[in-house]
Amino acid sequence: KETDMNCELLIIGAGPGGYVAAIRAAQCGIETIVVEKGEVGGTCLNEGCIPTKAFVKTAQLFHEISESERYGIHVQEADVNFAKVIRRKNEVRDQLRRGVDSLLREHGVKILNGVGSFCSEKQVDVAAPGAIYHVTAKNIIIATGSKISQLQISGADLPVVLNSQSVLDLEKLPSSITIVGGGVIGMEFASILVSLGVKVHVVEFLDRVLAMLDKDVSGEIQELLQSRGVQIHTSSKVMSIEQSVDGQAIVTYQQGEEVFRLVSERVLISIGREPNLDNLQLEKAGVKLCEKKRGIEVNEFMQTNVPHIYAIGDVTNVIQLAHVASHQGFCAINNILGQAEKMDYSVVPNVVFTNPEAAAVGMTEAECERQRIAFRVAKFPYYANGKALIMNETKGFVKLVQDSTSKKIIGASIVGPDADTAINILSFAIRFGLTDKDIASVIFPHPTTSETIFECASGLTNASIHLH
Ligand code: FAD
Repeated sequence: KETDMNCELLIIGAGPGGYVAAIRAAQCGIETIVVEKGEVGGTCLNEGCIPTKAFVKTAQLFHEISESERYGIHVQEADVNFAKVIRRKNEVRDQLRRGVDSLLREHGVKILNGVGSFCSEKQVDVAAPGAIYHVTAKNIIIATGSKISQLQISGADLPVVLNSQSVLDLEKLPSSITIVGGGVIGMEFASILVSLGVKVHVVEFLDRVLAMLDKDVSGEIQELLQSRGVQIHTSSKVMSIEQSVDGQAIVTYQQGEEVFRLVSERVLISIGREPNLDNLQLEKAGVKLCEKKRGIEVNEFMQTNVPHIYAIGDVTNVIQLAHVASHQGFCAINNILGQAEKMDYSVVPNVVFTNPEAAAVGMTEAECERQRIAFRVAKFPYYANGKALIMNETKGFVKLVQDSTSKKIIGASIVGPDADTAINILSFAIRFGLTDKDIASVIFPHPTTSETIFECASGLTNASIHLH
């Protein structure tokens, strides 16, 4: 059955880019259709942010139980029922999926379940089970996200090898795992799995894990995870994966001139994600790609080279984060409404949900050096914070980067408990151009881990109270 349809806005993909843009468009009175080939919520809700953080919660709880004696609680024996861990993760995901679906419907957004492909710059065909829709739209937003990058080595497709999607539905926890790739996804899984009692190796090509973060931050996380048993092999290139007769995985990697072999029950490859351009047939709409980013090229208004076609989220490969995808969506909608809004990436918080978390926003020291900005740095350790001691989480620090001339805070990192929420204080500070004195003039509640921010800001004028 073939059906012709018309709308003001067609969005391809219902991840945090596409579905958020659809709701905002509907709120602004734009008649909107969303095309989704899988489940609403995209990678983030179905196989990314949400399922992994459900695992993080289990891992944290299990880790705390293992230390319960210290709090005066005796636990006879604790073990992990991984089938139940998976079930809970699915319950959280399903509830949120239902929520997104009903939000879209309540806002009057029409959802077409099918695969979208361009026929021309104004028309997209949607192939749905038993039906084809020919949708003509005044404006189109491409929000098709990203897909897992494949490692081109022998053995990468063996049954013992997992990726960030298949690891979410493992039937049982392996006793040991080798993680190839020490980026955000790899290190989050390293932290989860080691907390659940799995023996973990991480093999990373670069000279440090979490290389996109400030060196102090990645170094602290690396040390903390090593102290909890994760074995990290940096500057190491994985050459091949084999499966032994008894079903074990053998990862061969090269470090300098030497070749090493790691034997484990499973391997997780987490080397990154790339823009998902499958099925789009962009050439029919004349939409160009960015050679450097290998995603769809967009200007600061989120427009492609075809002005009424926009692209947002991971498919642009600017920054692969759910909240960036959503904000690019707001920006695109405002531009469709004629508001000429530019997308601003200067204050994008980034959280790594290891235990404890690492969070960063704004500029790092290295970026200031590259851009020849005169800066000062202050650091305040978690061990000098009362709440951190109460929580038995005294590792970590807050680090602030200040522009020496304007005295404004231009960058911040936090390693430690509550970093995921505390970083927002610093997003506000950077976004609204606050100085160290502005931050230190605010009353922070006691006892909280966020007092480390007050202390660190005070430290920029050598006025920390709890550190000398
Ligand atoms: P996606 O969420 O990928 O959504 C794209 C949607 O488009 C999908 O639903 C897909 O089915 C659909 N689609 C694709 N092609 C078509 C087509 N032709 N027709 C119809 N539909 C189509 N980010 C964070 O900010 N915080 C985190 O903690 C975090 N954790 C992560 C953990 C993991 C394991 C992974 C893999 C990712 C994580 N991310 C996290 C990244 C985050 O998931 C992505 O940045 C985010 O989902 C990008 O949103 P998007 O809308 O651009 O694309």
